[in-house]
Amino acid sequence: MMHRFADASGERTIGHDPKQLAVVLGALRMSGVALLDLDQAVEIYANTDDRRRSLPPSVVFTVDDGYADFADVGLPVFEEFDCPVTGFVVADVIDGKRWFWWDQVEWALRHAAGRRLELELDGQPVVLSWVTESERAVQQHTLVERLKGVGDVSRDDFIDQLACIADVPVTGDVPPAFRVLSWNALRSCERRGARFGPHTMSHPILSQCTDSRSHDEVVDSSARVLGELGNPSRVFCYPNGRMQDFGGREFRTLRSTGMMAAVSAMPGIIRPGTLGADADAIWRIPRFTYDARDGVTSRLLFL
Ligand SMILES: [Zn+2]
Repeated sequence: MMHRFADASGERTIGHDPKQLAVVLGALRMSGVALLDLDQAVEIYANTDDRRRSLPPSVVFTVDDGYADFADVGLPVFEEFDCPVTGFVVADVIDGKRWFWWDQVEWALRHAAGRRLELELDGQPVVLSWVTESERAVQQHTLVERLKGVGDVSRDDFIDQLACIADVPVTGDVPPAFRVLSWNALRSCERRGARFGPHTMSHPILSQCTDSRSHDEVVDSSARVLGELGNPSRVFCYPNGRMQDFGGREFRTLRSTGMMAAVSAMPGIIRPGTLGADADAIWRIPRFTYDARDGVTSRLLFL
């Protein structure tokens, strides 16, 4: 599971380094591991026949949230190694209807009028205070993690308050650093071999949504991706993806949409037979975060 790529132009330096990715993909190619397309891997590993037994260990790459740096920085490396890759996209963000809320937080803190902000979240005081950029980044990370634990309404109220107190607008056109791919750009990535699956309409934590909101987030985003794209993935991706962020209600909705599987962000690997072990295994496929540090990925894969 990957997210952002570092942008060589210097617009944004936080993200996966494409040079390190090239080293990792080169090593995987040399190791004889099969680099599989996600949908293909799901079909193989969910199948109880013998096809999977003849396969070497397999690796699947996914990239969440559909940022523009995927097309500019990440995809060229996957192309170079002829490595399949599947992205997960959020329809309302592609349509320019909203920014991702964590980008609003980053933007507000980066451009805040002062370096001490006193706010309230659900009636509790929140004081943000920093001197250096790295202190700001730590405050930002802690705040984003905390905001994942509150409902949409509290979070949106907090971000409105933050934008006001920091005196930084966080609506309107998305700044270049947070730009996502348009449907047209996604289609041109498809022509370069990438695939894309649905990741909801607005990126809420589904377990915190009402029944009808959860249903619409899943059904509408799946229909949108299937309708807009030429070679869509039929694998859904849960926002946030921890065990507590989705459940049986979402599995039932997904079964009705024509999706064939869903990925979480719970770390783990799939062994032959795992996906067929129980009826719901296909709706909570684990993924682990890509880590380019020497040996980390291979230790995870081959332990
Ligand atoms: Zn996401």
